[in-house]
Amino acid sequence: MFLLISCKKLVLDKHKLELKDQKEEFDMSTIFAKIINKEIPADIVYEDDLCLAFRDINPQAPVHILIIPKKQLPELNHAEIEDQQLLGQLMLAAKKIAAKEGVADAFRLVLNNGAGAGQEIFHMHFHLLAGRSFTWPPG
Ligand code: AMP
Repeated sequence: MFLLISCKKLVLDKHKLELKDQKEEFDMSTIFAKIINKEIPADIVYEDDLCLAFRDINPQAPVHILIIPKKQLPELNHAEIEDQQLLGQLMLAAKKIAAKEGVADAFRLVLNNGAGAGQEIFHMHFHLLAGRSFTWPPG
């Protein structure tokens, strides 16, 4: 009986440790959080109650805009059912921005989820790219 309780406690402690590690893995004060808080400048092209969009500092196409949630969500992988409205709003923001930039007929929307997929800043974001031709499959 004692052994069983001890084992359970061990499993719970391990779970707590794993949760702690997961939280610590992500820096919650990314450069994008600083842009949201207007602590550093950005070329902002769109803003609504949930989303912000600004030009990428290192553009990979004539139009390269990052669309981010104001909520700090490290990766799309962390989105939950309560983020449905936010995710839909980000996509609609992309559509509006493409129209505003005059590229509604041809643009690419990219989301890198995780370091293995090329994500460098752990605040979820879409890249809206346009103004040149794109190949498929992407690199
Ligand atoms: P990712 O590799 O998907 O995480 O994309 C991060 C993007 O953020 C890259 O395209 C960077 O060029 C861009 N970036 C980094 N810092 C800034 C900044 N201060 N303002 C605008 N874009 C930035």
